[in-house]
Amino acid sequence: MKALKERILKDGRCLAGGILKVDKFINHQMDPILMKSMAVEFVRRFANKKINKILTIEASGIAPAILVGYLLELPVVFAKKRKPSTMNDMFVTEVFSFTKNKSYTVCVSKEFLQPGDKVLFIDDFLANGNAAKGMIDLVQQAGAELLGMGFLVEKAFQNGGEELRKTGIQVESLAIIESLDNCEIKIR
Ligand code: 5GP
Repeated sequence: MKALKERILKDGRCLAGGILKVDKFINHQMDPILMKSMAVEFVRRFANKKINKILTIEASGIAPAILVGYLLELPVVFAKKRKPSTMNDMFVTEVFSFTKNKSYTVCVSKEFLQPGDKVLFIDDFLANGNAAKGMIDLVQQAGAELLGMGFLVEKAFQNGGEELRKTGIQVESLAIIESLDNCEIKIR
């Protein structure tokens, strides 16, 4: 998506270890106009799917997910990275965080992910695909169906995208980063 690619080149910054910092417009300060355009693009790309629920993971997936949910008039559920004391009946999985270099437990209440749900997962980044695999696990535990996965930014030099596409799930990324070598942002 042209507007996102241009914005990454203008405002994205490269950190050591293959991390792209997008906190000027995606995950700290947010640009709602760009966010809305990205949601419109997801709606277009998944128009062939009969989705009834948007799933994301806190925190950075929530903004794009809620805009997709708003446009499609569908509920948005975010997986929580801490078990709330008030939640008893839930699906739980482990996710390894690439940026934080540690594993954490992620949960979704059984009330909000149910057999028969047709789910679209939305997140900010696709790197090694660990968060995405955790979400696949939660959806399977619930007996729901995952119809697609949409990411704002995919880092093609990590293997998440390749692995997810092998499963046959429709995976859409709005900007694909080929390389961040020598702190130079190369976009496909
Ligand atoms: P994965 O689970 O695919 O390895 O990594 C995806 C998660 O890690 C995303 O939810 C995102 O929060 C974080 N992440 C991975 N790579 C980057 C990156 O280059 N920049 C930022 N800002 N977050 C990233």
